[in-house]
Amino acid sequence: MNRGTHIFIGLSMGLLICGQRTDLIALCTVMGAVGGWFPDIDLFLKHRKSLHNILSLLATGAAVYAAAYFLAKNFAASPALIASLTAYSFMAGYSMHIFGDSLTIMGTYVFWPLSNYRLRLAKMKSNGFLINFLGALLGLAFIAVWARDYVYSTLTLLGR
Ligand SMILES: [Zn+2]
Repeated sequence: MNRGTHIFIGLSMGLLICGQRTDLIALCTVMGAVGGWFPDIDLFLKHRKSLHNILSLLATGAAVYAAAYFLAKNFAASPALIASLTAYSFMAGYSMHIFGDSLTIMGTYVFWPLSNYRLRLAKMKSNGFLINFLGALLGLAFIAVWARDYVYSTLTLLGR
């Protein structure tokens, strides 16, 4: 899956996590996009291993939560909420990145470093049209779900 597709899906996951908290849309979509981009930092060191596993997902998610809480406690009334939405958006984008890559020939080593098991749910080409097209569709579907909920809740607020 291409970088842009990963980032787009991450952004859409951030939108879903954000829900109706429209004041936090920028935070959630940016953190979702960052989560979608982040795992490929391992491109130069044990690619698809060191940052494409559950352990690194949890560790970086916890670090993002801690950093967001530390920053938010200076200005936000509810730093725990801000930190949660920040970390969840990041981890949602991150998880979808691992899932997307597990559909490719190279697969992902989801249990590394505990196990060398390779998760490979399909054998698509990473930069092929099909996987990136499906990824874009998935991101659009997430955005459509968010938009539908947003419209419904706005109409409910207006009493219609
Ligand atoms: Zn990757």
